[in-house]
Formats: sequence, C-alpha cells, structure tokens
Amino acid sequence: MELLLKEMIEKNRPLTSFGKVATYIPELSNVDSNILGIAILDKEGQLYKAGDYDIKFTLQSVSKPITLMLALMDCGKELVFDKVGMEPTGDPFNSMRKLETLNPSKPLNPMINAGAIVATSLIKGNDNQEKFNRLMDTFKKISNNSKLAINESVYLSEKKTGDRNRSMAYFLRDVGILNGDVEEILDLYFKQCSIEVNCVDVANMGMFLANQGILKTGEQFAPKHITQIVKTFMVTCGMYDASGEFAINVGVPSKSGVGGGIMCAVPNRMGIGVVGPALDNKGNSVAGVKVLKAVSEHLSLSIF
Ligand code: GLN
Repeated sequence: MELLLKEMIEKNRPLTSFGKVATYIPELSNVDSNILGIAILDKEGQLYKAGDYDIKFTLQSVSKPITLMLALMDCGKELVFDKVGMEPTGDPFNSMRKLETLNPSKPLNPMINAGAIVATSLIKGNDNQEKFNRLMDTFKKISNNSKLAINESVYLSEKKTGDRNRSMAYFLRDVGILNGDVEEILDLYFKQCSIEVNCVDVANMGMFLANQGILKTGEQFAPKHITQIVKTFMVTCGMYDASGEFAINVGVPSKSGVGGGIMCAVPNRMGIGVVGPALDNKGNSVAGVKVLKAVSEHLSLSIF
C-alpha cells in the first residue's frame, strides 16, 4: 500500500506547479509549493504514509468541522442553526456577498469563513483562554497528539491582516448573529486556524469522524449524531464551491484549508490526511485533490 501511495504522490507532484500557495496571509507565502504528502489511518489502526507526510502545516479551514462539532456539543443543534445555515453557497470561502442580501442575515453554512466565525463564537468558556484551552484539548485528543500547538507567526500574520474576516464579523454582530467582543472571537478563530499539524495528525482526526466520534482509546468523545452533521457539511460544503465536483470525483466527506491540508473521513473505514500547499483558484490543494481521486478510485472509497 505504501508503495502505491508513493507512486501516486510522485506521479501527481508535478501538478503542484499548476497551483499557487496562499499569499493573502503573508506568512503562508513562505511555504514550499512543491510539497505533497499523504497519510492514511485505517480502522484497524494501520498507518500508511508517503511523500511529505511529516511536514508541518497549519490547519486553516480544516479546523472548521471540529469547531462546529464543539459548538454543537456546547450549545445544541437548535441554537447553532439559529445563527448559521445548512446550505452550500456556490461562492468562495471568504465571500461576503450574500451576508447582507439574505433574510435572516445569517451565514449560509459553517464551512465558509463567516459561518465558521459564528461557530467559534459559540464555544463555551469563562474567558478566551479557557475557550482556547477547550478547543486545543479537543484537537489534541482527536489527533491523538498531545503536542499540538499553534504556529505563532502564522497566527500573528493573519491577526494583523485579516480585515476581510474582521469586517464580516463586525457586520454579523451588527445584525445580532455574533454576540460579545468581536476581536476576542476573531482571536480564537485565528488561533484555531494556526494549529500546526502533519498528515498523520489529520488522518487521526479524519478517523475519529469516520469512527462516529470514538477516540483511539475507545471513549465516545462526541455524540454520533453530531459527527454525522459534521460529515454531512464536509460533503456538501467542505471543498467550498468545488464540493459538487469533488463529490463526483472522490466521493468522501472532506475538508480543505488554505494551508494546503485536506482531511477525509471515510465512514467506518479510514481517515486520510493530505498536504499540498499549491492551491487551485477555489482554494483547494491542486495536487492533493488529484491524489485523493486516485486513492478513492483504487480503494473504492466513494460513499455514493
Ligand atoms: N484562516 C483562513 C481564513 O479565515 C482560513 C480559510 C481557508 O482555509 N479556506 O481566511
């Protein structure tokens, strides 16, 4: 299996030259665009890896399904979906176009930036530090890596330049969707996006969702019905406005991020972590998506 993955990585690596690393977060522009790696963790605990699987990258939007999970565990379905919708947008991940025209004025789903910021705002804790600790503990548990930490320079870089997210968050407070201190909410959001991982961490996270919220230790950490909601969003909105094409070509609940990461949860079978920082024009890893297509075809992973 590892030999096969290695072949798939090397065959698709040249495609990285057709993508570009994200530059709107200045610190991300320093990343090597040739990177491509994969790790697969199956239900039996077997780990298969190839390429740059151990290179560190920031989760960015790959964090969104997990924050949503915690928000649902903290506040329940009714409250969460009172503030954020359940429908795909067909717009880019950072679009603010529909925020004002929709009535009520709530973000269409929790996988786009506006909706993810709302989910982050719903995480419980007495202060921001406690909220961050709870979030970090969750990521450590489900990635099976107690050493996870944020990349301080990526975090500060986005905090300094994230005016688009900032403007959406202030707008959302104006219309009553966000409550509380906007800068604190954004701080937590930028931190969650800056958590540094490798493909093995992400494969563990995917396996946790694939295994319906059960940790490697056997503990049921998140209720099954919440992980079902999360995986459904990954199918309908996880790859933004390329989610339809991805569902046809790969057919697995997945979430991408502008750090080049993709997390996949193949129900009851495996978790997959991919990294390839060269992105296509929709913000998805250009070579990463192609590797996943090859893996999905080879192992018949499509859930459809
Ligand atoms: N931190 C990034 C942002 O808010 C995450 C976006 C992404 O990964 N698509 O813009």
